[in-house]
Amino acid sequence: MQPCWARCLLIAASIALAPVAVADTGLIGSWCDQLGSRLHSVSADACRVQDFTVANERTTRGNLLVMRDIAVDDDKLPPDAKRILVIGGIHGDELTSVSTVFRWLSWIDQSGAVDYRWRVIPVANPDGLFARPPTRVNANGVDINRNFQTPDWERDARSYWTQRTGSDPRRNPGKQACSEVETRWLQQQVEMFHPDLVISVHAPYNLLDYDGSMPEPTRFGRLLLNRLGVYPGSMGNYSGLYKQIPVITIELPNATNMPSLSDQRAMWEDMLQWMRRNLPVALPPSGLKGIDVSPVPD
Ligand SMILES: [Zn+2]
Repeated sequence: MQPCWARCLLIAASIALAPVAVADTGLIGSWCDQLGSRLHSVSADACRVQDFTVANERTTRGNLLVMRDIAVDDDKLPPDAKRILVIGGIHGDELTSVSTVFRWLSWIDQSGAVDYRWRVIPVANPDGLFARPPTRVNANGVDINRNFQTPDWERDARSYWTQRTGSDPRRNPGKQACSEVETRWLQQQVEMFHPDLVISVHAPYNLLDYDGSMPEPTRFGRLLLNRLGVYPGSMGNYSGLYKQIPVITIELPNATNMPSLSDQRAMWEDMLQWMRRNLPVALPPSGLKGIDVSPVPD
């Protein structure tokens, strides 16, 4: 049998070779209907206006995996503009994480955010979100945030689960690293998008966590830094430690009730301020921005 890392590479390669699906408005429409009926804070119409790309892969229950690439001033952005990958809903019962990412989708075209390239995945675990009741784990009962291909997975993930969590079914890492389609797809986004920063939104621990080498954020709105450490197979471990791509984990205070709009806004503004300090906006190629490049008359 192939070692797990080789299996993951093969899977990643097959995904990479697969054509990118064109958004099917019918499919997206019913996906948005499901989303709108599940979340108080996001309407089906607000979902439908997003220009989502649909992955070729389907989840175990046949749900869509969708993402949206946003570069507001694409023609003005320099090629080395920093890239931000946002992930919501990796745990399906953390409804506010999905609503928060949709809120951000409505703010990304505003000042402070337009200098970055964004890839936004609002619902990383649709099977968990759309289950009744929603579940943290996916349809196979696996915690996607313990299933990433981290170097310590083979040695530690299952023993950590059995010994430290008492085989808590909410934290099942799966039988093998990246055994789940959602995990493989998320890893593929990290591999292909090459983000400079990953922001993963969760609830309800009411804190800010960080894995990376840049100066740590200390406060986003009411959320204060409280570093929890990393787990075998977690996104913080996979991206922040293994791939050396910083990961900010936002833990909202409640999984079903959104923070006030002013608290959401304060969190967003502080996050952008941290990004501008630590992921400086790249200068455009000379002559393309802020300089009159009209041809000089003969
Ligand atoms: Zn979570």
